[in-house]
Amino acid sequence: MDVRTILVVEDEPILREIVKDYFLNEGYEVLEAVDGEQALQLIQDRKVDLIILDIMLPRLDGWSVCRRIRKTSDVPIIMLTARVDEDDTLLGFELGADDYVTKPYSPPVLLARAKRLLDSRSRQSQSPGTSDSLIRYGIRIHFPSRTVESDGVSINLTHTEFEILSSLMQNQGIVMTREQMITKIWGYEYAGDDRTINTHIRNLRIKLGDKAKLITTIVRTGYRFGASV
Ligand code: CA
Repeated sequence: MDVRTILVVEDEPILREIVKDYFLNEGYEVLEAVDGEQALQLIQDRKVDLIILDIMLPRLDGWSVCRRIRKTSDVPIIMLTARVDEDDTLLGFELGADDYVTKPYSPPVLLARAKRLLDSRSRQSQSPGTSDSLIRYGIRIHFPSRTVESDGVSINLTHTEFEILSSLMQNQGIVMTREQMITKIWGYEYAGDDRTINTHIRNLRIKLGDKAKLITTIVRTGYRFGASV
């Protein structure tokens, strides 16, 4: 299998070093950036499979970096937040981050989160037995390339938005609870709250335009794609 490349964006040398050594030991290639501008440059120049992005950075903070990356790329992003602040977390998700880890974090936890994001990608791009594409109501999902089209027009989704839309479409007509969605996307040990999913759904609806109405909110439960069965 290809060696995966992780970009660590962190201005504090000791923290950067710890993450770097840990991922190197686990067989990843690691790129380092000490500020936001260097991160954006590296993403342009190199193939990066996942980004670990600190929020507090000199020159260009993590929020701005995340927003800029999302204009051109759906690479998985894990944000590092300095404290348990739900507003920080939600802002990260609004800007297109896929996951977050609170400082101080343990490298094994960070690795587990990174692996999950990377694995769900490769699973979808090579899972045998499932059809490559799913088309419902004019929305076409192509799993190997992780691309989505609505009436032939391509839509750029983040990693997490893609996961949510594909789960909903694969379960067309059936209500998915927020817990089911969280479990499928982040796994059981996820510590966020329900508003996380709501935030991603809101972003997804904006991108779906007039097809947004295909996603129905089921009050106090979750979401359903398409008419109920
Ligand atoms: Ca920092």
